Amino acid sequence: MKKNAFEQPQIESETIESLSQKLLNATLELSEKNQELKRIQKEQREMMANISHDLRSPITAIRNTVDYLCADISLSLADYQSAIKLIDRRTKTLEDLIADMYYLFCVEDTSRELCYQKIEPCMFFEEYFYDVLADKRYDKHMLILDMEENLSGCIKIDISKIVRVLDNLFTNAAKYSPEGSHITLHVSSLCEDKKLGEAKILKVTVQDTGNGIPAKDLPHIFNRTYTVSSARTPNSSTGSGLGLSIVKAIITRHGGNVSCESTIGVGSAFSFTLPLFEKTE
Ligand code: ADP
Repeated sequence: MKKNAFEQPQIESETIESLSQKLLNATLELSEKNQELKRIQKEQREMMANISHDLRSPITAIRNTVDYLCADISLSLADYQSAIKLIDRRTKTLEDLIADMYYLFCVEDTSRELCYQKIEPCMFFEEYFYDVLADKRYDKHMLILDMEENLSGCIKIDISKIVRVLDNLFTNAAKYSPEGSHITLHVSSLCEDKKLGEAKILKVTVQDTGNGIPAKDLPHIFNRTYTVSSARTPNSSTGSGLGLSIVKAIITRHGGNVSCESTIGVGSAFSFTLPLFEKTE
């Protein structure tokens, strides 16, 4: 039989169903991406506002001190010296803040390659721990290493970046704990349930017996836009407030996760994970 030239093509109802499902999935995916974009834009706006705020206070202190020095010519040497010291301290705060902002920007920029090296975890963490033992900053704390025996496999890390993670966690542990308290470095392996079977991961925890963090601040502690004053360094001249954001950014780029458990008056435990590989991989 001759086919009519204008006859509609026969489309199976199954095909229509699968096409409309695909269209629906694509729309959902687009809407999720849109939401994510909006969230990132909001976070960036908040971060700009926070950075302007954090930059303003040392700059105001420096400006006021300079005005004071310029206005009064009958200042004593001691007055001059204390004014110069204040300018020096506030300039250091600005330098640290700008250095941390730039560091965070570089780590989050995925077009910048990290320098990954394959290394055995026990070798790396033991070496780090012995460096910490020799570091005068931790003289007033009891340092403990709790490493799983016969830890197998290896990690692929940018060594200087993971050292930075540990430095940030250790300096915080010492900063927010009284003298004589304990700081423990726990290193162990875990099996993580993944859809495609089990994956081995390394879990690293820096645990202190210090001040602890209020429960209401815990969900925001790694968020760089978080500005609730109780969760920032009490003396604003001692930290940029970006230390934990840097930790999260570095661990995310290594394919791991960060978390924190803390109880006021008992202490805090900051953990991160890293994928574990077979030595031959
Ligand atoms: P900074 O220490 O420069 O303020 P961080 O990002 O390193 O910035 O830490 C953010 C906040 O989290 C700190 O201001 C502090 O309130 C809290 N914090 C971090 N580590 C600890 C800790 N080990 N114990 C108690 N509080 C902590």
